Amino acid sequence: MNATPPDLPQSTIERAVSELSLGHLVAIPTETVYGLAADATNEQAISQVFVLKGRPPDRPLIVHLAAAEQLSEWALDIPEYARVWADEFWPGPLTLVLPKKAHVSTTLTAGQSTVACRVPNHPVALATLTSFDGGLVAPSANRYGHISPTTAEAVHEEFGNQTPMVLDGGACEVGIESTIVACLGSKPEILRAGMITAEQLETVGGVRVNSPGMAPNIVVPGQVSTHYAPRTRCQLLAGPQAVSSFLDAASSDLRVGYLGWQPAPSGVEKSVILEACPAASARQLYAGLRELDRAGLDVILVESPPSDQAWAGIRDRLQRACGP
Ligand code: AMP
Ligand code: MG
Repeated sequence: MNATPPDLPQSTIERAVSELSLGHLVAIPTETVYGLAADATNEQAISQVFVLKGRPPDRPLIVHLAAAEQLSEWALDIPEYARVWADEFWPGPLTLVLPKKAHVSTTLTAGQSTVACRVPNHPVALATLTSFDGGLVAPSANRYGHISPTTAEAVHEEFGNQTPMVLDGGACEVGIESTIVACLGSKPEILRAGMITAEQLETVGGVRVNSPGMAPNIVVPGQVSTHYAPRTRCQLLAGPQAVSSFLDAASSDLRVGYLGWQPAPSGVEKSVILEACPAASARQLYAGLRELDRAGLDVILVESPPSDQAWAGIRDRLQRACGP
């Protein structure tokens, strides 16, 4: 997949920045997924993001910054390990949750006393943030609960005639949302798995990182069990054997799709085969789910990814796409 951003003239960035300064929304590319950006200090703009997405008000937003130096404008009590992570991983797919400064909107934090911040690694996002000269909330540019967009076309597909200005920065390089770590005190904890693993964080930060794993009963603030989901029913199955058993038992007029790492099973109408490495799989995942979702299938069979840490983010998204 070619993820090189098409050249965007500075005048287009400036137009987007004018929109943002007026309190309007702009969809921007990041390396993870496309974000629905708005001025993080403008209450009305923040509310608009919740309204357009159909996002419940109890799900906080992430503040996107142009550089790590801006973190202390938003957050307090930043532990040393969090500074080390910011230096090492920013710009990049890592979000740090820290105590918020008093001025930070509680609409944005969903009433919490903490704020989530990150510096995205995409030239268009960084150019926009630098020129805007302030923080931008930018949750994934999709209707609440649906598949996150990894191309500008997917943003249009989500919002139709309600689509705001979209900066087309090509296909997203990482392809799934950032790793979120709560950095509150001496025991950091991963709140959402992503492509930066607990092991990487521990190595760089010199600190133990608690990772809730995939235990189904662990409740994480703002996380719900069905999310990142196609409209078509999805079913997670462990391995080719389970896929064949499903197909053997299914009625012959059931239209079945498949997303996974094995060759397309026979009896499946449409399949998306992902590359065997986690980075490539993450990059292809949401576009693959969208393609299957458009095919008018009755069910999408999704193969469980391997169980090691490198696949944790992909495992999490697939489990949520398939629901409880
Ligand atoms: P999205 O921007 O759609 O990727 O979603 C933002 C994610 O960040 C959600 O999973 C939120 O629960 C999480 N988040 C944002 N702010 C906080 C916070 N203050 N504490 C915990 N999680 C947060
Ligand atoms: Mg989202």
